[in-house]
Amino acid sequence: MKTLKKLLILISVSLIGCSSIKTSDEFKILPRSYWNANEPKPFKLHVPEKITIHHEGTVFNPEKESAASKLKRVQVWGMGAERNWSDIPYHYLIDFEGNILEGRNVFTQGETATEYSPEGHLLITLFGNFEEQVVTEKQYNSLINLLVNSVKRFNIPPDSIKGHKDFANTLCPGKNLYQFLEDGSLIKDVKAKLK
Ligand SMILES: [Zn+2]
Repeated sequence: MKTLKKLLILISVSLIGCSSIKTSDEFKILPRSYWNANEPKPFKLHVPEKITIHHEGTVFNPEKESAASKLKRVQVWGMGAERNWSDIPYHYLIDFEGNILEGRNVFTQGETATEYSPEGHLLITLFGNFEEQVVTEKQYNSLINLLVNSVKRFNIPPDSIKGHKDFANTLCPGKNLYQFLEDGSLIKDVKAKLK
């Protein structure tokens, strides 16, 4: 059984390597070429079983720097000497306009500088620091669409959608984003769209 699961992952990884833009009726995902991503280094495989929401953590000002440029900069830094990650640590990132940018391959384990194992976690990150900034409406709507899509695609129970701070000692995803998890409205919005 374990071997079969591994085989399926490998097939999925190779298929994903050939595809670029994935679309649905509700949203499209901007491929890695949109932000001029570097090739990843060798990575660990996994299957997404739960979803964790993050903020990128630095104050985002799209008038000063585009999401694409910022993402590339974070990738280069994270793959460098300080972190030595195999790629951008997250699977998807959402900018203030609600654009969803493809991060690392969803079948590869994400990475973290905090003390939890990201194995099995689909990591969705919103640009911004939500201790200081607020989530835009477009950003929130795209998050819900991406969550609905991911819950269906990987057969993940909506109640397992959590924030980074539920697993590790961190402020991530920031109080102005975490409030939607805390008051149950985010999971309620996902469930409403699943119907
Ligand atoms: Zn985080």
